[in-house]
Amino acid sequence: MPYQFKTIIEPFRIKTVEPIHFTTYEHRRQALQEAGYNLFLLRSEDVLIDLLTDSGTGAMSSEQWAGMMRGDESYAGASSFYRFEASVRSITGFQHVIPTHQGRAAERILFGVLCQPGDVVPNNNHFDTTRANVEYRKAEARDLVIEEAHQPALILPFKGNMDVAALERTIAEVGPDRIPLVMLTVTNNAGGGQPVSMANIRAVSEVCRRHGILFFLDACRFAENAWFIKTREPGYADKSPAEIAREMFSYADGCTMSAKKDGLANIGGFLALNDPPYDRERYRDLPQRCKNQLILTEGFPTYGGLAGYDLEAIAVGLREVLQEDYLRYRTRATAYVGEKLLAAGVPIVQPPGGHAIYIDARAMLPHIPPPQYPGQALAVTMYLEAGIRSVEIGQVVFGRPTADGSPEAPVPLDLVRLTIPRRVYTQSHMDYVAEAIEYIANRRDQIRGLRIVWQAPVLRHFTARFAPL
Ligand SMILES: *Cc1c(COP(=O)(O)O)cnc(C)c1O
Repeated sequence: MPYQFKTIIEPFRIKTVEPIHFTTYEHRRQALQEAGYNLFLLRSEDVLIDLLTDSGTGAMSSEQWAGMMRGDESYAGASSFYRFEASVRSITGFQHVIPTHQGRAAERILFGVLCQPGDVVPNNNHFDTTRANVEYRKAEARDLVIEEAHQPALILPFKGNMDVAALERTIAEVGPDRIPLVMLTVTNNAGGGQPVSMANIRAVSEVCRRHGILFFLDACRFAENAWFIKTREPGYADKSPAEIAREMFSYADGCTMSAKKDGLANIGGFLALNDPPYDRERYRDLPQRCKNQLILTEGFPTYGGLAGYDLEAIAVGLREVLQEDYLRYRTRATAYVGEKLLAAGVPIVQPPGGHAIYIDARAMLPHIPPPQYPGQALAVTMYLEAGIRSVEIGQVVFGRPTADGSPEAPVPLDLVRLTIPRRVYTQSHMDYVAEAIEYIANRRDQIRGLRIVWQAPVLRHFTARFAPL
């Protein structure tokens, strides 16, 4: 037997480099002050390692750049569209492929065509744009993730699963007529990037079929989810990620996708679907009605708000993302950061997800109460000490100000997300991140909370301004 090397290396070498910017402590202190202690308001050139998001921040391959040069910019019938369509069809099996400028545009079209006021849309956890698009239609976005998902330290292989009994209860309660579709988000971004098992996808699909309700995947991280199925679910170890992905999609009637995630592209997305198999008035001519909406706000159906070269980059990216070497490295790189933090005594959401590590800031900083934003305080300290940009997902995002200025009611969790861009940072970048967080953890009692000095009425986290307490 040949020797099995244990070190999992980056499965690429670097052809183009982009400098990152070292700054002084004093420069960062000033930049923070000017940004009102909101990391969204920093200039990227003041950031050394940017873990704000994995959305559109990945590095493209030489094959994707070659595709960019091949881009056919014809308004109608561009060959780039047919390559894009073939790539999406071969992976998902869906008949109708509708390109959009990003994931939320696919959501807006789908929910705009399907949802009516008073409807209920179940999901394991709605991503924030998904929820916003459901609620914009005056429908209810209902999260039905399994109960265990709410315990950060609990280790389960498929913590993103939907509670199938809760789905049955919801259907019994509101009636199938008021449920236009059921969605499953793979992996579950809002729930810590946790995967959904094939068994759960199958079970949710079976319930939907029995009640004649359409079933869609929010497929933004479908390849990472496929890898977790391959490595964690009995019976899938010998299947390729592409075969697993194909089986995942086979249980659904369609999907929405942000190509900025597992499309390995910097922009783009799509809505893909089959002709609905059920004879319900609201499903009549669904693909055609989606395309009509597309023309209204995105563009002609063979480009949908994208340049021909974007379609090429996505067509190639969707195939590259399913390569075993890539997925092994991708999930390993994320878990590596998680293991280093755990070894340093930093509490994280367990087990590590596919695209990010979530630090449990409330557990790490017990001396800062939720109304003083422990997650934001930690994220700000990481920037100040080490130039690392992360993102708070907790009291700042989900909390609501009180009318009389009294302390806000605590939300369930205060997390800080370290989101790993695809194919961008090396292991030494991540060693630096782990060292910085360990340094901060050893001085955690010196970190102080924040107060909000200005906030917008909705989505306050993007623009709020803070001051240290
Ligand atoms: C990013 C994301 C979306 C929205 O996609 P955009 O391209 O940002 O519009 C929807 N769902 C999930 C799970 C996501 O992660």
